[in-house]
Amino acid sequence: MASYTVNSSIMIDFAGVHKHYTTAHGEVRALDGVSLAIEAGEYVAVQGHSGSGKSTLLALAGGLALPTTGKVMVGGEEISAMASAARARFRAQHVGFVFQMFHLLPYLNIVDNVRIASRDPHAPQSLANAEALLDRFGLHDRRTHRPSQLSAGERQRVAMARALLNGPKLLLADEPTGNLDPENARVVLDAIDAFHTEGGTVLLVTHHAEAAERAARIVSLRSGQVLGSPAVSTT
Ligand code: ADP
Ligand code: MG
Repeated sequence: MASYTVNSSIMIDFAGVHKHYTTAHGEVRALDGVSLAIEAGEYVAVQGHSGSGKSTLLALAGGLALPTTGKVMVGGEEISAMASAARARFRAQHVGFVFQMFHLLPYLNIVDNVRIASRDPHAPQSLANAEALLDRFGLHDRRTHRPSQLSAGERQRVAMARALLNGPKLLLADEPTGNLDPENARVVLDAIDAFHTEGGTVLLVTHHAEAAERAARIVSLRSGQVLGSPAVSTT
């Protein structure tokens, strides 16, 4: 099975990226000429109004979606040129995702929700790793519970454990504190900080000033373009 190494000093490199959708109401330019480089080990916050393209930016950075035109490189690999199976493999190895709505599977208990991120979910090591992460997030005695039995904060801690299971180099967090009380928000942000301190690269979409303050750089989007950088049009 092919595996990709991540060894570039630039973790994320968008070159002239457009993402357009054709809808009943016409063409939507979710990203409209984005060129952006994020170095390995950077902590970048992404801000912008609803609909400005923040989630699209993260989806492309993680290989969940492909650009309409332009090139997306992650860790020196051109993920926008990979077939979907290769992108999925790359993602599992190197990228962790956290979302505002947690995206846990309702029919699995929480230890299985974490293990499912493993490349080999049935390996004993994946169970040990999942349990260690749940322990770290204070959820060890909840491991046989279903997500519906947990509070929002607990669910997001499960999602953090899942995101970290494979030891990713890149963490993509899309409004991860959007549904949390301040105390749970702090737990999640502290975990993101710890990931960054250990050398990880973070791209965090957030509306919270306190969260954005933890980042070393803020990228602002408006109408699919990065403010303050010349839009590169390839169309
Ligand atoms: P944000 O996360 O900043 O709120 P998004 O990246 O989700 O913004 O969306 C950017 C724009 O692209 C919005 O106008 C949104 O409606 C549109 N969009 C996103 N996904 C789709 C889709 N699958 N089909 C059509 N339009 C979409
Ligand atoms: Mg969004």
